[in-house]
Amino acid sequence: MKNVKGLEISILHTGWIENDKAINFLLPKTGTKSNPTPLAEWWRVPSIAVLIKHPEAGYIIFDGGSRRGDEVGGGGRSRRDEQIAPLYIEEDQWADKQLEKCGVTVQDLSAVIISHFHWDHIGILECIQGTKAAQNVYVSKKDFGYGLVETHIKKSDVPTTYFYRNFEIPGLTYHYVEEDMEFLPGIEFIMLEGHTPGIIGLVIHAEEQTYILPSDAIYTAKNYGPPAIVPGLIYDSLGFFRSVEKLRKIEKEYHAKIIFPHDPDQLAGLKTAPYFYK
Ligand SMILES: [Zn+2]
Repeated sequence: MKNVKGLEISILHTGWIENDKAINFLLPKTGTKSNPTPLAEWWRVPSIAVLIKHPEAGYIIFDGGSRRGDEVGGGGRSRRDEQIAPLYIEEDQWADKQLEKCGVTVQDLSAVIISHFHWDHIGILECIQGTKAAQNVYVSKKDFGYGLVETHIKKSDVPTTYFYRNFEIPGLTYHYVEEDMEFLPGIEFIMLEGHTPGIIGLVIHAEEQTYILPSDAIYTAKNYGPPAIVPGLIYDSLGFFRSVEKLRKIEKEYHAKIIFPHDPDQLAGLKTAPYFYK
């Protein structure tokens, strides 16, 4: 696929999540005979969404940050879940406010792509009710179905991941993505796995550079390696490695730049909204 003139992306920084490093990297500090109880390491990772400016389709958002109420003390998640992965967010870091930083409102969005339905990726959905984007919400069929069963059949709000209320936002029309496909000129959906049963990743052939957005299939550059390091929070560890291999091929083919979803070191070196990368 060719790079497309006028295709650009802006990185939206949608707050900070704190958690045990063992969620991001399996066994970061293994207990040993001489040190059987090593201390957990608590750290902070950013959350991001990406605004895409497409020459024909206009503005599209990929992932949507967290939902109001999910911040510390907000009441949207259980106290226990807030303890496992507290969210700290400034008022201007909600996804709709980040759009405004770029001079864009939710009314200007033509579509929303949700890589997977974990709580820190769906926040934009309640902001788009009644807009044209509400009729164009793209989700991973495997992930969406799995999340629905977990929350609505098993009735378990899985800690740090899926929550019942996030599937109950009225007025949205979902389109299922099941396989790799061209979404628009210059934008490809690629199906990834491991973190959940199926994550939508994007390959964006922007004007000057191809970007890969793997979302939580690969949290950080350190997870990507080489060597690849599987996260502690994982649905299918072998699927994780398959995703890594798939991404390496695409990265090589297009000399692409991968933008990781929860990487504090990488984000520190990136320009965020309102800057657009070409
Ligand atoms: Zn996730």
